Amino acid sequence: MAATAAQKRRKMANNSPRIGLYPGSFDPPTNGHLDIIRRATRVVNKLIVGVAINPSKDAMFTLEERIQIVRDEIAAINQGLTAKVEVRSLEGLLMHYARNVGASCIIRGLRAVSDFDYEFQMTGMNARIAPEIETVFLMASENHQFISSRLVKEVGILGGDISSFVSPRVARMLKKRIAERNAATR
Ligand code: ADP
Repeated sequence: MAATAAQKRRKMANNSPRIGLYPGSFDPPTNGHLDIIRRATRVVNKLIVGVAINPSKDAMFTLEERIQIVRDEIAAINQGLTAKVEVRSLEGLLMHYARNVGASCIIRGLRAVSDFDYEFQMTGMNARIAPEIETVFLMASENHQFISSRLVKEVGILGGDISSFVSPRVARMLKKRIAERNAATR
């Protein structure tokens, strides 16, 4: 019996090096994101961090800035990650993009139960679109689990201390951007 297109794709995915795609807005990348990136490189041979072109409406950084910040963060960790991780812009339908880059799995980070409902729906839909690509959920370490880019921005805007949520470099960039925005609206 002739193999179906899905069977052929699954076979190809099984034979090739395991490429993972970690999609997100990374506006800005937090210690939680970096924790997931570090963990993901233990599961896949190569990790593509896909920086979404359209972040949420309250975006602080442009696509180019976010890509550069994620690259710099990975270079700064410098635990052999740069050789395994590639940072690219992500456009179009996630699963089509995943297929185009040859990913065999999507990496997602799970925080509290609050992430579950959304992830559950998205994973179900994605599995219909590309059944040969698995979604793998990873959890950040306990002290990074509650961090979200949205809250980091909120705390930063209100003048709070964000130093335990993001790297010193990201904290500096965020503070600068918030100051620029405040100056522009004054
Ligand atoms: P956020 O949800 O913080 O705005 P993204 O949209 O960039 O960030 O998230 C991309 C992926 O990273 C999602 O799978 C998200 O659940 C995961 N993630 C973000 N922060 C954390 C964290 N602190 N721990 C685990 N996973 C995380």
